[in-house]
Amino acid sequence: MNEIEKLLEEKKVRTTAMRILIYKFMAQNKIAVALTDIENAFTKAERTTLYRTLKTFEEKGIVHQIDDGTGASKYALCEEGCNCDIEQDLHLHFHCSNCNETVCLTEHKIPQINLPEGYLAEDVNLVIITKYMARR
Ligand SMILES: [Zn+2]
Ligand SMILES: [Zn+2]
Repeated sequence: MNEIEKLLEEKKVRTTAMRILIYKFMAQNKIAVALTDIENAFTKAERTTLYRTLKTFEEKGIVHQIDDGTGASKYALCEEGCNCDIEQDLHLHFHCSNCNETVCLTEHKIPQINLPEGYLAEDVNLVIITKYMARR
């Protein structure tokens, strides 16, 4: 059994050839990918299969979704041991509006925010939008 199969099994996701391919594709990408990126990489696959694979990965904590303000959800692989816990695991993201790339900043966790009484955070998206300034 290879590493990806082992990981899918740990996350209780049934191994399929397509799931392994999509996992590999995301692992190779240093940046977060949109569904359209996956569609472009797997043109022979059914769109619904690709979409469902992403959703399964998200539900099982294999990938996390990022709203980078571009209107298209991006997905990136979770780190080892990630439970997508708001206080422990969620991190900042960085979006470059010149190259339209979104990257995880996993070493920067979401700061603890004190919410008004009676409210519980369900999800947090913290994205730093940047533009590239050429060095002079
Ligand atoms: Zn996660
Ligand atoms: Zn991330």
